[in-house]
Amino acid sequence: MISLYSMKSFLSLIFISSLVLSAGSQPVSDDRCKVTRVEDSDRFERWLVGKQDLSARKQKTLYKIPVVVHVLHRGEAIGEGFNHSKARIEAQIRVLNEDFRRKEGTPGFNVHPDGGDAQIEFVLAKIDPDGNPTDGIVRIDVTSVQVPPINFNIILQSSQYSYWNPNEYANVWTMDLAIPPGLFLGEARFPVSNLEGLRNDDDSQNADGIFINAPNFGLAKTNIDPNFNMGRTLTHEMGHFLGLLHIWGATTFDGVDGCSSNGDYCNDTPMVSTYTSGCTSAGPLACNGGPAMIGNYMDWSNDICMSLFTNDQITRMRTVLENSVRRKSLLTSPALGDLVTGIPVSEISEGVKVFPNPAVDRIYISLNDKACEGEIVITGYTPSGEILITKRMKCASDMTVEMETTGIRDRVLILDIKSPASSSKQLVVIR
Ligand SMILES: [Zn+2]
Repeated sequence: MISLYSMKSFLSLIFISSLVLSAGSQPVSDDRCKVTRVEDSDRFERWLVGKQDLSARKQKTLYKIPVVVHVLHRGEAIGEGFNHSKARIEAQIRVLNEDFRRKEGTPGFNVHPDGGDAQIEFVLAKIDPDGNPTDGIVRIDVTSVQVPPINFNIILQSSQYSYWNPNEYANVWTMDLAIPPGLFLGEARFPVSNLEGLRNDDDSQNADGIFINAPNFGLAKTNIDPNFNMGRTLTHEMGHFLGLLHIWGATTFDGVDGCSSNGDYCNDTPMVSTYTSGCTSAGPLACNGGPAMIGNYMDWSNDICMSLFTNDQITRMRTVLENSVRRKSLLTSPALGDLVTGIPVSEISEGVKVFPNPAVDRIYISLNDKACEGEIVITGYTPSGEILITKRMKCASDMTVEMETTGIRDRVLILDIKSPASSSKQLVVIR
């Protein structure tokens, strides 16, 4: 067991090992989707309802969410096996956008009277946590790691291998769990509110995001689950990530509530007693005797019959995005790249390192021999050109320069470091 996690910190090792032991004693679950909620559900709903009214009245602005996809593979070449190709990952993001935008001419379009365009889009992150350009894809070889049982806390485990700041990125992991098709598709972390007095978010802070079983990720001709092969698992899990419940119930997140529960707190999704398997219009019936909304992304029907988020669901997701911790901050994340359009993001020269990034109150610039010669001038300015910090000094060998950023909050700075020997630019986020 210990060898599986030999690369992790000692504390993580103890924590994970104990989880493995406890998970091993539990029966295998046949849930296809799990959602972890970290606080009292009734209070969360009351908090949400109070804000939904405001959100529903607002003009819908287009929200963008930066996504990082961590591909946990087993040593295959890129595009082979479950080391998904960039094309498959990009196709998955395209599906997500078609579904959330109810885009005409795609499987995500519908003419349902309660269906809507969420005005939420997803982009692969353009800036990585160090401020450098990225394609939003991280590949990690986990060959030496045993495939976990499916009732294991897969998001927590995945986050040990690769995890970007959840305030700036929607983390999505994909790995093959080597299980029969349809048994387990994905899992998501539910948002938390910032209500005072509620259980804090330690667990989610350390592992917030979405896990998708590799055969259910993206669009492809091979290595894909035959019934869940259109990228809708991520659409469904992203719904949870933004606060949606299954259409059949609320008090348990992967169980069945029956007609007596509070449902999903959305008035325009007919209450159903259970989930749909397959893609049949014959049933189940809604609790009011009418047809069940099997086309809703928050059912468990097959990918091919899904095409619908309702207006109430959309209001709920947008309310979470406007208010919840680790969701609201995604909308202004520098990872979107919008703030630095047209500006060279990084021209790092050898021997210059800027840390930490993001920074609070101060940043450090270390320079080695190659970057240090004569007088050095460091300037931090906004993408619009406003200079906020500057420093000029004689450079000494292997020096580290400290610069205070007190008074600067939630800004992206371009740090320009010039010496007679070198010139470099680094993007820094100040929190
Ligand atoms: Zn679900």
